[in-house]
Amino acid sequence: MNASSSPSPSATAPRCRACGDVLSETFCDLGASPMANSYIRPGDAARPEPFYPLHARVCTGCWLVQLEEFEPPAAIFGDYAYFSSFSDSWVDHARRYVESVVERFGLGPASRVVEIASNDGYLLQFFVRRGIPALGVEPAANIAAEAVRRGIPTVVRFFGAATAAELAADGGPADWIVANNVMAHVPDLNDFVEGIRVLLKPGGTATAEFAWLVELVRRRAFDTIYHEHFSYLSLTFLARFLRRHGLRAFDAEALSTHGGSLRVWMCHVDDPRPDLPGVGRVLDEERREGLETIEYYRAFGPRIAEVKFALLEFLIGARRAGRLVAGYGAPAKGNTLLNYCGIRTDMVAFTVDRNPHKQGCLLPGTRIPIHAPDRVFEARPDYLLILPWNLGDEVMAQMAGIRQWGGRFVVPIPTTEVRP
Ligand SMILES: [Zn+2]
Repeated sequence: MNASSSPSPSATAPRCRACGDVLSETFCDLGASPMANSYIRPGDAARPEPFYPLHARVCTGCWLVQLEEFEPPAAIFGDYAYFSSFSDSWVDHARRYVESVVERFGLGPASRVVEIASNDGYLLQFFVRRGIPALGVEPAANIAAEAVRRGIPTVVRFFGAATAAELAADGGPADWIVANNVMAHVPDLNDFVEGIRVLLKPGGTATAEFAWLVELVRRRAFDTIYHEHFSYLSLTFLARFLRRHGLRAFDAEALSTHGGSLRVWMCHVDDPRPDLPGVGRVLDEERREGLETIEYYRAFGPRIAEVKFALLEFLIGARRAGRLVAGYGAPAKGNTLLNYCGIRTDMVAFTVDRNPHKQGCLLPGTRIPIHAPDRVFEARPDYLLILPWNLGDEVMAQMAGIRQWGGRFVVPIPTTEVRP
C-alpha cells in the first residue's frame, strides 16, 4: 500500500487530551455550530461566519468526555463577553463560598489566595473585603481591567505550569486556589493541573467547580456543550487524573449552580488530611449511574434528539397560532440550543439580555437580535423562552411583569415546559 495515499484512521482520529488514547466513541454529535461566544456586531452582519463540528466524544481509556480544539483559547477568550457579576445568584454563590472557607480553614491577612479565571473579581472581592490578599489570573484583558478597576489585583494570563511557577516565584505559593468553571475551558488539562500542583503551598487547598457530567446527562443539558468547553468532567475521570499529577481529591460535593455542578477539594497527594466521605459518595453515585460503562455515553444522543423535537413542536404550534415568541438571555448555551434546533427569527423574534456588551449584537449562527430587557415590555410577547434555564427562577422573578398581558415563560430543558 502506498503510504502517501489515505492515512490510516488512527492517524487522523482525534486523541484524548488527557491520556492520548484514540477517541472512537461518540457522546453526542450536534452537527456544526459557530463559536458560541462569537456574538455578531451590527457592522459584521453582512459577513459570513465560520461553523465548526460540534461532536463530543468519550475516551474509553480515562472516561473524559471532550471536544476537539478548533480555535486556540487566545482567539476564544481574548475578548470574552461574559461578566460574572451580571448574575445575582452567581455572585451570591461566591459570597457564601468565601464566608464558609474563611471560617473553616482560618484564612486571614497572612494567607495568599489565587483565583484562576477570576473574571471581573465577582468572587475575590469577598476575600479582599476581609483583608485577605488575593490575586486574580484572567486571560480576557477587558474583563481583567474591570476587576482591577474594582480593586482586585489581576494579571492577564492563561494559567498553566509556566504561569504557576512565575506566580510562585513572585508572591510565594498559594494557601488557597480557586478554579471555578475553568477546567472545562482548558485545552491542555495536563499543563493546567500541573500548574495547580506547582502553585499550591504544602498543606494548601485548591477547590474547583465545574459542570458535572452526571447532571448534564440527567438534565439532558446538551446545550452546555459548545466549542469553548473542551472537557465534560466527572470525579471518575478527575480523581485518577489528579493522582497522576501529584494531587488528591479529598472531598467532593454536588452543587445546584449552573444546572448541576461538582465542587472538588484538592490537596497534595502526600497531604496528611484524610479523604472525607464526599469523595466515596460521589464516586459510588457515578458508578451506579454507569460512568464506567460505554452504554451510559452511547445512550445520550437519542435522548437529546427528543429535546429538539419537543421544542420545535411547541414553537411551530405557537407560531402557527399567531403567537409572538421572544427569548430571554443570550448565554453561550442558548447558541448551542438554537443552532442545533435550527431556530431563527421566524420562530424566536428577538432575545434580551442585561449585559450591555451583548445588546445590539446578533446571536451567532441564528442571527437573532439581542436587545435590552425593556424591549419585552414594548413588544409584549406571548411566550418568553428562557435560554439560561439554570437561572429560570431568577429570570421569572425579574420578568414577572409579562403576566400583565398573559405572557408565559417557556423552559426548554430537560424538555419543553410552559410555566404560567
Ligand atoms: Zn483519555
